[in-house]
Amino acid sequence: MSTLIKGGTVVTAGDTFTADVLVEGEQIAAVGRGLAGDTIIDAAGAYVIPGGIDVHTHLDIPLRSTVSSDDFFTGQRAAAFGGTTMHIDFSIQPKGATLRETVDLWQAKAAGKAVIDYGLHVTVTDMTDAVLAELPQCIAYGAPSIKFLMAYKGVLQVDDTTLFKAMQQAAKHRLLIMVHAENGDAIDVLVNEALAAGQLAPKYHALTRPPELEAEATTRAIRLAEVAGAPLYVVHLTNAGALEAVQMARARGGSGRIFAETCTQYFFFTRDDLDREGFEGAKWVCSPPFRTQSDHAALWDGIADNTLQVVSTDHCSFWFAGGGDGRPAGKELGRASFAQIPNGCPGIEERLMLLYTHGVRAGRISLNRWVELCSTNPAKLFGCYPQKGCVAPGADADLVVWDPEARRTLSAATQRQRTDYTLYEGWEVVGAPRTVLSRGRMLVDDGRWHGEAGAGQFVYRRPFGL
Ligand code: MN
Ligand code: MN
Repeated sequence: MSTLIKGGTVVTAGDTFTADVLVEGEQIAAVGRGLAGDTIIDAAGAYVIPGGIDVHTHLDIPLRSTVSSDDFFTGQRAAAFGGTTMHIDFSIQPKGATLRETVDLWQAKAAGKAVIDYGLHVTVTDMTDAVLAELPQCIAYGAPSIKFLMAYKGVLQVDDTTLFKAMQQAAKHRLLIMVHAENGDAIDVLVNEALAAGQLAPKYHALTRPPELEAEATTRAIRLAEVAGAPLYVVHLTNAGALEAVQMARARGGSGRIFAETCTQYFFFTRDDLDREGFEGAKWVCSPPFRTQSDHAALWDGIADNTLQVVSTDHCSFWFAGGGDGRPAGKELGRASFAQIPNGCPGIEERLMLLYTHGVRAGRISLNRWVELCSTNPAKLFGCYPQKGCVAPGADADLVVWDPEARRTLSAATQRQRTDYTLYEGWEVVGAPRTVLSRGRMLVDDGRWHGEAGAGQFVYRRPFGL
């Protein structure tokens, strides 16, 4: 049985052309004119793009006494409805665990639930000599990207000794080091001062994590990586100062070694969103926090001039009103103090639509750049290209038929993400997925779900640069 996606405009990172795409089994068999197939998907007037790849997500993530609201089934189904057919989640090392145990723990979360293909990064929180020695094994685990947090003091934060030693290992073994770059020590001082002064509202989350402390940590991580000779990927970059650090590093010769992403939400919101009436601002609490309008402009420039190579989501959904009706506790945990608000926002579903509407249609980026930022660069940087991230014979048939004129109003009432809010309530987008295939299987067609829990597979990714 073959499937023919007929008469669409194929859009890749490099080209835009009219062609049929023939899918046989799980792969693309041919791309060309006048092809024949058993089942026809009419793509006239639509774009045919490689499925989105979101390299920064947190599904089923434990946080203190609670857990995020989306698991691997609901989060991945939401991703598929938004045109994302692969994501890379962070397996987070529990204190004392080996990295093997860490990856296995996250594999167990996905088992029987996955509906799209997924990879795993490894977040190291407890670096012993044994863990340092185990780092190269992450290649055998299919998870050759290792993340460290320079913030969350006393919980997840690592010191520079740990980070630098890991970078030395990474340089030797082709691991990609990823950093959450904020100066956790200085933030800890500012948070404690705010708490002591009775400044407890959600807005103080943003005010105690100023952009300079992200710029400083970004610079520090880059300089450490340069000395160690390791490739570095800065996650969720939010502001002009941090962007400048990446720009300078790439200009002095690090363009093949220093990389950075931003996330969808950082183009749209500011710290003022945390100051919305009552406790509403808690919905916008994530780290790093939202910045200012001028940072939005810097980020749009950053994706246009390739200072930033990827747009991901940092999807980490919590209920706004959790803790009852079978819901795990959520944002309400922080009613008494911003320091207790679970950090994170939903967004795995809306990324492609928002970037298409506000990026492509607004004339800020090209169609091809949109595909590159959302699919092709993620696949290349994270070791799964051209299996993923392209429309070519032999690639996995992870394909999206994109209707460029479809209008949607984003809303908590209609989203597939399992949470009771969206940051984009009432926003209209133009351009949305019509049909979504994962390795040739229909997942979504005209808004209807056809996916099957357990069909998604773990993607063993190659070491950096191979
Ligand atoms: Mn982070
Ligand atoms: Mn994250």
